[in-house]
Amino acid sequence: MGKIRAPANVKRVYDRMFICMKCNSKMRTDMLRVKAKKVKCRKCGYKGLRPKKKDRKA
Ligand SMILES: [Zn+2]
Repeated sequence: MGKIRAPANVKRVYDRMFICMKCNSKMRTDMLRVKAKKVKCRKCGYKGLRPKKKDRKA
């Protein structure tokens, strides 16, 4: 039996997935841009975004 490797690109996609804290719509962008507050929700314009994955805070 071989080991199953998680595809690197899938991980990367989740790494850049953010969720609007106001309307919960998902969007894909860069962590750096979120931290620099350059990103706002496409739907409602809110700037409070959280990463899709909660547990790892990097
Ligand atoms: Zn929103």
